[in-house]
Amino acid sequence: MFKTVFCLLLTGFPASQTIAQSPKPLPPIEQKMVDRGLVDIQKADPDIRVELKYSTTDNFIGRDVYGDLTRAYLQPEMAKRLAKASALLKKEKPGYRLLVYDAARPNSAQYDLWNALDHLKIPARSKTQYVADPKIGSNHNFGCAVDLTVVDENGKPLDMGTKFDFFGPLAYPRSEQEMLKKGKLTVRQVENRQLLRKVMTQVGFKVNTTEWWHFDGMSKAQARAKYGMIP
Ligand SMILES: [Zn+2]
Repeated sequence: MFKTVFCLLLTGFPASQTIAQSPKPLPPIEQKMVDRGLVDIQKADPDIRVELKYSTTDNFIGRDVYGDLTRAYLQPEMAKRLAKASALLKKEKPGYRLLVYDAARPNSAQYDLWNALDHLKIPARSKTQYVADPKIGSNHNFGCAVDLTVVDENGKPLDMGTKFDFFGPLAYPRSEQEMLKKGKLTVRQVENRQLLRKVMTQVGFKVNTTEWWHFDGMSKAQARAKYGMIP
């Protein structure tokens, strides 16, 4: 009794309620990934910022297709590499941080994304220009790809010349020199992309030729064989 009163005085709650409560359960879509061994990248490095664009309406579809999926997961090996890239960035530009827009995407969410394209009235044959066919899968479906940018000391994304998920040559790393010559990209915009690429390629991620924000940790065939698709 004394203990209860004592605790009430200290905390405003009876002792029985001060016992640590079990953490809030994860949403099923995230629990599914944890059960498969995937890692929350902010546990690998809490300095990495996360804003899953498909869990907001700020994406090219204008819909929240991820719902309860709000954390960025990757296969452990990939999360470890991303933490190393984050460390390299902090060493080079102490105030800068990585900002993750997308990471592991269960195949169920790949279907939701695929179906959401219908609302944009995109013809069936053109859909793969925007989203990988869920029957085949994207490297995101294996937890081996990450979409990201760099933010400055104020948390503002660096100017990369286009937004995330801009479809067209302006976003293509392979067309940068041409875009630079035509004056459609500035030297600074290309340098910002190069900074991101430098830290990502140093830890073994591969650059995508058409999306400056997308990096693969291994080929899709390797990822499929090693990890299988997240259902
Ligand atoms: Zn991607």
